[in-house]
Amino acid sequence: MALEYAIPGAIPAYEDYTRCVHCGLCLNHCPTYRLWQLEADSPRGRIRQMILVNEGQLPLSSTFVDHIDKCLDCRACETACPSGVDYGKLVEHARARIEHEYERPWRERVTRNFVFNRLLPFPEQIARVAKLLRFYQRSGLQTLARGSGILHLLGVAKRESLLPRIDDEFFFGKLGKTFPAPGERRARVAFFAGCIANVTFSKLNDATIRVLAANGCEVVVPDEQFCCGALAAHAGVRETSRELARKNLAAFERENFDAILTNAAGCGSTLKEYAHLFSEDEPEFAKATAFRSKVRDVTEFLAELGLTAKLRQLSVRVTYQDSCHLLHGQKVREAPRQLLRSIPGLDFVELPYSEICCGSAGIYNVTQTDASLELLEQKMRHAKETGARVIATANPGCLLQMRAGAEMHKTGQEVLHVVEVLDRALLV
Ligand code: SF4
Ligand code: SF4
Repeated sequence: MALEYAIPGAIPAYEDYTRCVHCGLCLNHCPTYRLWQLEADSPRGRIRQMILVNEGQLPLSSTFVDHIDKCLDCRACETACPSGVDYGKLVEHARARIEHEYERPWRERVTRNFVFNRLLPFPEQIARVAKLLRFYQRSGLQTLARGSGILHLLGVAKRESLLPRIDDEFFFGKLGKTFPAPGERRARVAFFAGCIANVTFSKLNDATIRVLAANGCEVVVPDEQFCCGALAAHAGVRETSRELARKNLAAFERENFDAILTNAAGCGSTLKEYAHLFSEDEPEFAKATAFRSKVRDVTEFLAELGLTAKLRQLSVRVTYQDSCHLLHGQKVREAPRQLLRSIPGLDFVELPYSEICCGSAGIYNVTQTDASLELLEQKMRHAKETGARVIATANPGCLLQMRAGAEMHKTGQEVLHVVEVLDRALLV
């Protein structure tokens, strides 16, 4: 099998593919297989196609690209697999190969280049685009566009309905600041603020800092931190994600922290796996391995540290949607549930099929909108059946998707991050 491509970083070995023994135990856990019942859109089928392409027995054609593009990279197959197939590593490598060897239609090329190479790596550019979007949302243009039918004519109505609301005040202004613990300091932590989250989830970031501080953490938000590179890595734009990883490794190694925290499961998964972006002989590999030992999802960290903040009674029924990159990527299942259950009066109910993706999956809801909305419709049906007033989750992408879902399907439910639920319970 020819494995030497011009793709930088770790390259999966032959054994990484052949660990799949075709048992099929992953099939029913795969959202795309559940939707279409097609072997080619299952984990087993996709791995088979990767092997054939690597061996030159299948062309790297639009058909292969389509099946790989339709994968959510949710990694539910990893959790289900008894053979320990590291599917995320394989699909990201297949995408990096596609990026190098396949010419996408020009419109896709232009959009991908803008998003991955011109927008996400540059905070000032994110702020500029966010201000334009905020003007569109606040000036009445959005209402006009939605009412006039022009969005339907242009074929962008579904995507437009998934647009996040832009914040009044961006979190970028808090980079470089330190937030002290009010009482005795139990830990000194660094907070990773994300990229798009700086303009759409400032309030979530504020709530995260409040909850950490209330539990005895001094929170430092290091300056010169950048997008984690997850979206680029998942899309196969490996050079950009490596460059972002280098910058973040430098930003967070300037000081010694007890932990490096994120409230975004997608970012956390990539931050913990920065070593995958580098080969063992590159200097960043060792740095990424040391960095990994410090990175924690905020729910994982708080559950380990133990809550000391006084919490008031919250008499509300809450259910929890597992974020794929927290459950399947980082194997964190209990921590968010434990935190929710620790709130006095809170009625926690499990969400059936919470381990199945909500359809957000990074930019999947933009690139594969119909499949994403189909998954969302199923998710909201299950969520409604729980009778929960609040759906909690642990990733901004899932929050956006399910907030849009609650509105579209009129479930009347509020969608909050676990730390936002905790924040509401804080006795101030
Ligand atoms: S469960 Fe694992 S070994 Fe079995 S078919 Fe799926 S990927 Fe292959
Ligand atoms: S990552 Fe998710 S969508 Fe892709 S093959 Fe695995 S289970 Fe299916």
